This record gives sequence, structure tokens and C-alpha cells, in this order.
Amino acid sequence: MARVFNFGAGPAVLPVEVLQEAQAELLDFKGSGMSIMEHSHRGKEYDAVHAEAIENVRKLLKLTDDYTVLFVQGGASLQFAMVPMNLLGAGQSADYVNSGAWGDKAVKEAKLFGNVNVIANTGKDIPTRMPKNEDLKLTPGAAYVHITSNETIAGSQWKVFPKTEAPLVADMSSDILSRPFDASQFGLIYAGAQKNLGPSGVALVVMRKELAERVGAKTPTMLKYKTYIEENSLYNTPPTFSIYVLALVTRWILKLGPETLYRQNVDKAGKIYQALDSSSFYKGTAVKEFRSDMNITFRLPTEELEELFIKEASKQGMKALKGHRSVGGIRASIYNAFPVAGVDALVAFMKDFEKKNG
Ligand SMILES: *Cc1c(COP(=O)(O)O)cnc(C)c1O
Repeated sequence: MARVFNFGAGPAVLPVEVLQEAQAELLDFKGSGMSIMEHSHRGKEYDAVHAEAIENVRKLLKLTDDYTVLFVQGGASLQFAMVPMNLLGAGQSADYVNSGAWGDKAVKEAKLFGNVNVIANTGKDIPTRMPKNEDLKLTPGAAYVHITSNETIAGSQWKVFPKTEAPLVADMSSDILSRPFDASQFGLIYAGAQKNLGPSGVALVVMRKELAERVGAKTPTMLKYKTYIEENSLYNTPPTFSIYVLALVTRWILKLGPETLYRQNVDKAGKIYQALDSSSFYKGTAVKEFRSDMNITFRLPTEELEELFIKEASKQGMKALKGHRSVGGIRASIYNAFPVAGVDALVAFMKDFEKKNG
């Protein structure tokens, strides 16, 4: 078996144990003689999978009864629209932080539905960063406050979440379950699954149930959180295989221990940042206090060297290190499932590459 080190930003690496388990169960799920993909979403086999996925998320985020866990299709991108469609009433305004490409897209969608106050804008800042909490100009009476916990392209991450009176809404697509945080501080959290939770095809939504009551009567059934709450995300056929893998991934985190995982994530990122800081050849692109532990972005002295770096790394089994097409440079995405050995391999390669080309 030749597994490469996949530094891709998403869809991203999955735990080998999870892939093996899915493989072992693929033809005959628990003695049922068929794959979980072939089971009815109303049958007892899938029912158990669905319930476990929800229960695992509840445990990992330590959710209280006033929170609900939903599975929605359309990725995080549909959540950019669903959040304002459901939470932003006529004549109301919402506060948004634009911290980069993803925050910017969230703002754009929200503007289709109501008044948006951009209360901080670091989207175009170089080096990349999040705003400081004390710089947020929160609007009294805002319907909610929207942030992006980790800007996947910029490589910047919110370290201490702001305290807000209005419900705090976060796009956590690229760092959910990578570190401990107090879920009760949030009104709503969403995340496309394909970075830290599983395969593409499903977005996780965790929300305070009462917020779903705000929705207007004319909102289509499939775009109302209320429908997902009332039908346990089974109003229509959900992406059963994606939810199944999400159940396996969250089971894997519970088994490993979330604390162990968090420590491992900090250690992994720390090794690469140390390699950047101890060199004048590589240059990190994010302000130190906002450096992401999930997406590590850096530059080399020239674009030619960056191209060579990506090519040589690929030959050594380190794949998808190219930065996002909008910003260039190098991006090492090292989500929960990314192995420590891959980080060590990258650091060794970086030293070697600098020696040869520095
Ligand atoms: C990847 C990503 C998205 C887009 O997710 P889709 O599921 O492809 O819609 C949104 N926000 C952030 C922070 C992301 O990293």
C-alpha cells in the first residue's frame, strides 16, 4: 500500500483506520448483505449510523439539550445563505467579520437577505490576520454576529472567540473538532465535512434550537433549519454514506481522545512554524498571534522556487502543497487526520530544499 502525505485543503486526508473500516464493511454492512450506501435511510441499520453520528458530535462538543445537531447538503457554501435566510428577519441587520476569502463569501450571501454591517475587515491584509476582539464594532440589536473561525486560504485562525450579546455564528469548516472551545458561546456553528469531519456531501450544523423559530413563512422547506430539527435531518434522503463516514471519523476522535488530538494538532503545527521561524528562506504569511494550526501558509523567495518546491515535494510523496490559486505560495493543510510522520517529512524536506536552493 502506497499512501502519500496529502496536504490538500479539502477534500482532505481521512484517518487510515476509518478508510479501512469503511472498506471492510463496504460489501456487507454488519451482516446485512449490503453496503450502508444501499440501505434505506428509514431502516434500522442506517438509523443506528445516523444516531451515532449525532451522538458523537454531541459528546465531542459537550452540547446541552438546547442545542441540535443537523446534517444539511450544499456544503458550507449553502450555509452562507441559509444562516441569513433563517436568522435575519425583515428590517434587521447582522454583523459580519470579513477575515478573508470565506468571510467575504458569507458577507456576499447575507447581503441578499438583509442589512449587513461589516464590523471588521482584515480580508485583504498582508500578512494575513484576524481582527482583534477589542477592534470589533458590534452593533447593538444585531440579529447575530458572523465570524470565520479559520480562514483556510489565508492560514489565519481566531484564537480567543469574541464575547457577543447577539448570537455568535461561526463558519468552522476548516477547524471544527481540532481544538477545545465552549460551544455554549455560539448560537450556530456550521462546517462542510470534507476538511475535519469526513467526505464532501454533507455540512454539519450545530445550533441553539430556539433560533430556528425566527424563520419566515415563505422560506422553502429544504432551506429551513426547522424542517431539519423536526425531521431529525431525515425530511428527504440525506447523504447517507457521508454521514456514515462522519460517524466513523467522530468515533475515531472519541477513541483517540479529543485532548490527545488537540495536543497533537498544536505539536504538528508548531514543528512547521518552527521550521519557518528558524529560516530566512521561508516566510510565513500570517501574523504570528493568528497563525492557523490547520492551514500553514508560507512563501519562498521567488515563484520559480515555489514551483520547484511543490514539484520536488510531490516526487517524495508530499502532495497538494500548492497554495490556493487566488494567493499562490505554499499551503500545508494538516487537519486532524494528517499524520505526524507527514509533518516530520515536510520539515526534513524544507531543510534539505533550503540547503540546495537557499
Ligand atoms: C472549504 C470552506 C468552505 C466551503 O465549503 P463547501 O463545503 O465547499 O461549500 C467554506 N468556509 C470555509 C472556512 C472553508 O474552509
